[in-house]
Amino acid sequence: MTAQVVVLGGGVGGTIVANLVAKQTSGKAHVTVVDTTGIHVYQPGFLYVAVGQEKPSALERLESKLLRQDVTLIVDGATRVDPAARRVELESGRTLPYDQLVLATGSRTVMNEVPGGTAAHDFYTMTGAKRLFKALEAFRGGTIVIGVAGIPYKCPPAPVEFVFLLDDYLRARGIREKVQIKLLSPLNRAFTIEATSKLVQPILAERGIELTGFFNVESVDPVGRTVTSLEDETMSYDLLILVPPHRGQQVIETSGLGDERGWVPVDKNTLKHTRFDHIWAIGDTTNIPISKSGSVAHYEASVAAAEISAEVKGEAPPTHVYDGKVMCFLETGRGQATTIRFDYDHPPVSPAPARRWHWAKALFNKAYWHTVPKGRLP
Ligand SMILES: Cc1cc2nc3c(=O)[nH]c(=O)nc-3n(C[C@H](O)[C@H](O)[C@H](O)COP(=O)(O)OP(=O)(O)OC[C@H]3O[C@@H](n4cnc5c(N)ncnc54)[C@H](O)[C@@H]3O)c2cc1C
Repeated sequence: MTAQVVVLGGGVGGTIVANLVAKQTSGKAHVTVVDTTGIHVYQPGFLYVAVGQEKPSALERLESKLLRQDVTLIVDGATRVDPAARRVELESGRTLPYDQLVLATGSRTVMNEVPGGTAAHDFYTMTGAKRLFKALEAFRGGTIVIGVAGIPYKCPPAPVEFVFLLDDYLRARGIREKVQIKLLSPLNRAFTIEATSKLVQPILAERGIELTGFFNVESVDPVGRTVTSLEDETMSYDLLILVPPHRGQQVIETSGLGDERGWVPVDKNTLKHTRFDHIWAIGDTTNIPISKSGSVAHYEASVAAAEISAEVKGEAPPTHVYDGKVMCFLETGRGQATTIRFDYDHPPVSPAPARRWHWAKALFNKAYWHTVPKGRLP
């Protein structure tokens, strides 16, 4: 009998796992992807949209074009998973039975959890990035504050990358000397990874970007134009950009599959749900304390796919497990970038910023559509 493999979410992780399971099981499994929009969005590009370096249309493709022909795409929202009955309920009222289920619904941003926060700009959604670019184009001078309103958030280096790109943008417009850029970090350094923070902090200082540590954004006063931290510090701004709080999707919370923030508890090596059989979770959806990044979703998807395929074929589980591998680029502005690599056993390392890493990131951004959905790294 053909096994029913259902994947919730057609983002980075969901697309890779679906394509790999279909390929590896050669007809023994029928793979279905359920995605709310049916549009695959390349989120790292939001950074560039926000500073006018990328067109929004370049970041979106029809999910149906990225999936193998033998994978079925259902454009619908999953509203509830019933692990006992092994079925998924969809917004349309339809129900889908499954033998194996992959949760790949990513995360959602919840700026409304910050009092006054919806007045802030962000580059964490397409709408936010487009709106931010408009605001920057209209900006003539003053203080731009960039803060973090909750951990964990997607792509930990993104706020640092953004301030470097912002510095370039303001210089190109010839108004850099009229603008103060202030980066507020929840930690005592630029962002979570210590080694890379040490590398980028002198560059922040050199570019005249002020870094304030231990500033966990608690609330915003849009009238007085101030942002206040949990540590009880208040900062004035003319333009405020916040990394919004993140949490798991509503379907995870409604179904009782996650923790109090909707992150799904999984074994950090096998990606199997710790409480429910036949359920895997990958990418931003999990509670693994590791970067919420596309690269993690990618590496995890190939591990989950191999395990599911082995189970469908009645074979022994593969010996290869997820080892915590992360590989990200970090733009440092002026046409340079560095990388961040680590895994569970090896601490992060970052080389000195160089042009080649910037070009490697630019190449990856373009090659993404042709390689990543198939589970290949360019
Ligand atoms: C500004 C920014 C910069 C970034 N830069 C980098 C970077 O340089 N490198 C890097 O590796 N990562 C980066 N990331 C992070 C990366 O984009 C995410 O970590 C990655 O997309 C996570 O993949 P995922 O498959 O877990 O979730 P997603 O790609 O978010 O996909 C989730 C999918 O689930 C669907 N969905 C949600 N709810 C439901 C539901 N109820 N039913 C059905 N479908 C549902 C959504 O429509 C979406 O298609 C960045 C992110 C941002 C915002």
